[in-house]
Amino acid sequence: MLGAALFVVVISPASSTQREKSAFMDPVLALVKVEPPGATEESAALAAEEDGPAAEPVEPASPAPQADAPRPTGETPVVPAARPSVRASDAPAPRYRSVRMCVTAYCACSACCGRNAKGITASGRSVRANGAKFVAADTRLLPFNTRVCIPGYNSGAPVPVLDTGRAIKGNRLDVFFPSHSLARKWGSRWLTCRVYEK
Ligand SMILES: [Zn+2]
Repeated sequence: MLGAALFVVVISPASSTQREKSAFMDPVLALVKVEPPGATEESAALAAEEDGPAAEPVEPASPAPQADAPRPTGETPVVPAARPSVRASDAPAPRYRSVRMCVTAYCACSACCGRNAKGITASGRSVRANGAKFVAADTRLLPFNTRVCIPGYNSGAPVPVLDTGRAIKGNRLDVFFPSHSLARKWGSRWLTCRVYEK
C-alpha cells in the first residue's frame, strides 16, 4: 500500500514533466498548444466581425454614425440646437403670408412727419421702441403690433407695426430710420414682405 502510494507520487510528477517536455519537443503539440490561445481569439473576433455585417445589414450603417458620433460629441450642443431651429423655422412657416408691398422709408423729422412730429408713433410708442426698428402700415389691413419681415430692413428680422399715416394705404409700408439721410438712402422699393398672422 505505502509502496504503491509512493510510487504513484513519484511517477505522477514525472509524467507531468514528461508531458510538458514532450509538448515542447513535439512541434505538432507545440503548435497545437500555441495556436489555440491566439487563433481562437482572433478567429472568434474575425468571425464576429464577419457575421455582424453579413447577418445584419443594418450594422454597416450604424457603425458609420457611431464613427461620426465621436466627432459631433464635441459639438453635441450644436446638433440639438440645429434640430429645434429646423422645427422653429418650420413652425412659423404657416404663420405668415408673403405680400408684395411698396416699402418707403421715413424718419421722425418734420419733413417726414410734419411740423408736429414729436417722436411718438400713432400707436403711442416712442420712435425708439424696438430699437427704432418698426414700420408704419395701413392698420385696417395690418393692426398695430403685427409683425412684418422686410428684406433688407432690421436684418430681415420681424418688426412690429407701430405707426400709420393718412398716405399709408393698402399694400404700403413705411420703414422707420433714425435719420433722414438713412431714410432717403432707402428710398422706396417694392418688396415681398412676410406678414405674420400672430
Ligand atoms: Zn425724415
